[in-house]
Amino acid sequence: MNEWAIRDRWKEIDGRCECSDGGHGHEGRCYRKLTFVRRGYNCREGWDIKKEYGHGGVNRRIVTGFKIICMECLRNNYQKGDVSAGNDGKTNAFLRQSVVENGKDAET
Ligand SMILES: [Zn+2]
Ligand SMILES: [Zn+2]
Repeated sequence: MNEWAIRDRWKEIDGRCECSDGGHGHEGRCYRKLTFVRRGYNCREGWDIKKEYGHGGVNRRIVTGFKIICMECLRNNYQKGDVSAGNDGKTNAFLRQSVVENGKDAET
């Protein structure tokens, strides 16, 4: 994903989470205030991009856009099976970890 496209988007949305999915504990859009340098960080101001896909022909998916989404929302989506966060695998790696940890908490 183009770094400048991300920076432009960041300005457009004033550095606030774009998520408007249900079941996340936010009414309408999330609007959580994020910190640009915290991309890929597992903290309150942490965030990453969530890629959006479209059809690019037979059996092909192409990235058609992205949204800037806070870690909390990415984690909620991840728990529902959405693994389209990030572009380097690092975010998904600790989302996976946090789901495992949550699972352990639930058992105890
Ligand atoms: Zn959010
Ligand atoms: Zn959300």
